[in-house]
Amino acid sequence: MAVNGDDLKKLNNIDLMKLGADLHVNFNTGRRLSKANDAGERRVLVIYTGGTIGMVKTDDGLSPGKNMFKPSIRRYPQLHDENYHQKIMKASPADTSLESFFVLPKTDDVTWRILYDIKEYDPLLDSSDITEADWVKIAKDIQSDYEQYDGFVVLHGTDTLSYTASALSFMFENLGKAVVLTGSQIPIFEPRSDGVDNFVSSLIIAGGYNIPEVTIFFYGKLLRGNRTRKISVNNFFAFDSPNAVPIVKVGLDMEVNKAAIFKPTVIEKFHVHAMMSKHVSHLRLFPSISTEAVKSACQHPIQGLVMETYGAGNVPSTRHDILQVIERAVKRGVIIVNITQCTTGAVAALYKTGQAIAKAGVISGYDMTPEAALTKLSYVLTKTDLSYQQKVDMMCLNIRGELTNLSSMSIVDQSLKEALGISLNIQSPKKLAEVVANVFSSLLLYGIKQGDEGIVKKLLDMGADVNAEDSEGKTPLHEAILTGNHQMVECLLINGANVHFKTRTGECPLITAVLREDPQIINLLLKCGAHLASADIYPISEIMTTAIRTGSISKLESLKLAGAKFDIVDELRQTLLHKAVLCNRPEAAEFLLRQGVDKGAKDVLGHSPADYVMKLNRRSLHTYFH
Ligand code: ASP
Repeated sequence: MAVNGDDLKKLNNIDLMKLGADLHVNFNTGRRLSKANDAGERRVLVIYTGGTIGMVKTDDGLSPGKNMFKPSIRRYPQLHDENYHQKIMKASPADTSLESFFVLPKTDDVTWRILYDIKEYDPLLDSSDITEADWVKIAKDIQSDYEQYDGFVVLHGTDTLSYTASALSFMFENLGKAVVLTGSQIPIFEPRSDGVDNFVSSLIIAGGYNIPEVTIFFYGKLLRGNRTRKISVNNFFAFDSPNAVPIVKVGLDMEVNKAAIFKPTVIEKFHVHAMMSKHVSHLRLFPSISTEAVKSACQHPIQGLVMETYGAGNVPSTRHDILQVIERAVKRGVIIVNITQCTTGAVAALYKTGQAIAKAGVISGYDMTPEAALTKLSYVLTKTDLSYQQKVDMMCLNIRGELTNLSSMSIVDQSLKEALGISLNIQSPKKLAEVVANVFSSLLLYGIKQGDEGIVKKLLDMGADVNAEDSEGKTPLHEAILTGNHQMVECLLINGANVHFKTRTGECPLITAVLREDPQIINLLLKCGAHLASADIYPISEIMTTAIRTGSISKLESLKLAGAKFDIVDELRQTLLHKAVLCNRPEAAEFLLRQGVDKGAKDVLGHSPADYVMKLNRRSLHTYFH
């Protein structure tokens, strides 16, 4: 305790009483959420763009009802837990932002409570009316709130859901958090609606699982957004990803296929490419298609064309007119991508008829969906810093898990899995997967502690989960940071480690690096998009408290490097500077003053830090408060 008995005698009784709670420098920033629930909370932003999910019946048919969604959600106990909402508001009276939040009722699927806020668009749209300007708006909205939330859900009509999901997947570069798009076939407030399950499961996945991709959740499955297609007008099973396995299957449990999650391979920050070209078109071949139809699909100002051909990418070999139009368009600089009309499978130059258009300069779109091919073209065409050839190369590369080709394939060494199955005589595939995951985690930890990058890389090649959490929620990245091995941290980051995983106590890797006071690792994590969120205020204020109490300037410097703000106040409206004075830490006070904190801020007693310097006669602090 930094305030001693003599100091206290100098304060009057009321001061003493009121400061009593504070003598341990007990920070309550008004956002101490973990107080209400020890398991912690996750915040999800829901962007409600329109669609059947929120529609109401009108005389003209189903239509989105303005300002009706949020009040209705509050009345649905399966969508909102009002008791818990009251509890957190009482625990954090200063945090008025909590008022607008909804709370998902407790579920066994995740340890966190999920708090969600809803941003309703005006006007609400039937998704058939959505344009590329709306994609840009959604992308920018997520970007501006990116650091405040753990994940995002976009409520959207089903008609163009696959287009929006594909477009967003390309516009979001180095995405580190989950963006789950969903909707429903029947409005959420109707009996027999599929909307409740789609919405609740999306919230759980966005808030509770770190799946850093743009995905679509529909009818029990989480699918990669740029692999999906709307396959039914009226079935609940309305979306499928015919060429990619589901990432999550929801039954009694949520079964996550971790190997299917797209992993980053670069150290770069989240960024939104907020531009999509309109100069793209789509042509589906059919027997006896006219030359004019092909010509008009690629005439000026079109810069990119998705051509849906037969089977493995074939065009009629006798139609020299079509080939000629295509050849001329390619020479003019139009990028033409060949995709198949079939639901499953990919374009491959198997037949003479397919090779002819390849020779004309048409590039393979492999197994891309028409939605993915079209939106990828839109995205690539606006990359003004790329040459024509670089754009073509990018179209052929698997950049967000949207296509399967040789560059996207990795050969997983199954030998350890097979050996474990045989030697432990495990028959059940589920049990075997569990045992293998545990063995991999222990070996990965061993490799990290030994500082042996070779073992770590080999294990990852063999299918070890780079983001496997232990019982406390610690990931291999947390462990590598604790060893202080920068190279190992870098190796994990370029092999898919996610910087946003938090332990059960809310410690993200950046906080671990701050606690270790490791500027090099802090910088590396920042480069990868790590940040301190407002929801991290609880662990951060605790670290600040300790740093001030012990006068640890190096810890304060680490916090500063990680982007922490030093303007927090407690429930007695005392600032960090008040604390530094009360704890008699001149070096901490000097540090805070260098950060430009408010010298004159008054606490509930009306005292500024300078007042306490005088009252407590802090000689060593006098020089800073003239
Ligand atoms: N027409 C609606 C839309 O796409 C259909 C739906 O939401 O399912 O917005």
